[in-house]
Amino acid sequence: MISSRISSNNSVFIVFTCCFTVFSCFIPTTLVHAQTVDPNEPWNWPDEYVFEQVNQVRAGRDLTPESWPGSARVAVLLSYDVDNETVQGLRTGEINIGPLSQGQYGARVALPRIVNLMNEENIPATFFFPAWSLKLAPEQADLIKNSGQHEIGVHGWIHEMNTTLDRPTEARLLRQAVEAIEQITGERPTGYRAPSWNHSPNTLEIVRELGFIYESSLMHDDRPYELLQDGEPTGIVELPVEWILDDAPLFNPLGSRYMNPRDVMQVWIDEFDRAWEEGTMFLLTMHPHVIGHRSRIIALEGLIDHIKTKNGVWFGTHAETALWVREQAGMN
Ligand SMILES: [Zn+2]
Repeated sequence: MISSRISSNNSVFIVFTCCFTVFSCFIPTTLVHAQTVDPNEPWNWPDEYVFEQVNQVRAGRDLTPESWPGSARVAVLLSYDVDNETVQGLRTGEINIGPLSQGQYGARVALPRIVNLMNEENIPATFFFPAWSLKLAPEQADLIKNSGQHEIGVHGWIHEMNTTLDRPTEARLLRQAVEAIEQITGERPTGYRAPSWNHSPNTLEIVRELGFIYESSLMHDDRPYELLQDGEPTGIVELPVEWILDDAPLFNPLGSRYMNPRDVMQVWIDEFDRAWEEGTMFLLTMHPHVIGHRSRIIALEGLIDHIKTKNGVWFGTHAETALWVREQAGMN
């Protein structure tokens, strides 16, 4: 059975083409059933359509290795999405001086504070940049690269909302983001994190075309795994994220979910402790313009102090982690 999908203004049509051979007269006959799928009535969707939607991008095999480098039992990945001005107005085009000033705090104050902490603690970290964050403050690249142990990944062009873009535009923006970051840093990023942690129907295909070895925006698991696209293995390692392992939602004093940084630290400590017991992976996402404030970086320092009381901990960048699990799983 062959199925194809055709989009129109208000509805989606699925056409099922079934081939039957009518043996009695030896003449092949093709029956075509056309059925309208109303996007507003998911309770009436045909099974095939539901499977097609869910299977676009799905979790494949678990890639948790037998052990991490140095025979460690848990991997700790600290990552920073260096959004700065891109999420303070640039991505939506709503330009206001006040929010933009909060973005510059990220490059001017927070990033140096964070990089100093990572270097003092000798912890390699991964910094995902929308290209425009780096174009506005290219000195961030040297600051990050000085220690030789951190990674720079790509986080879009201007933190664009990829789900609103057509395929050619989304592909063009990601390609030019990679090129701009490579031009400023001297190295081509090998890892991708989607702006706003979402994929359009085309994102994974574009990520594959550009040769990334890993992706870090999805939430199928809390261990590393291989992404499936339409049910087929892709060779792309997913290093999954989670909103409870993100500083931005919980530290917004203007939002409805504000938490005391020391309470947030306890959530992260509990997540780490269970990852250590399970022998898997702890991945935390932060944003310099959020975590880099004085009262908040205390939460990060407390977390690091706690992690360092445990044995069998390996700190790695996302790229190092992806390469390790690929090697252990025979994917290289
Ligand atoms: Zn972001």
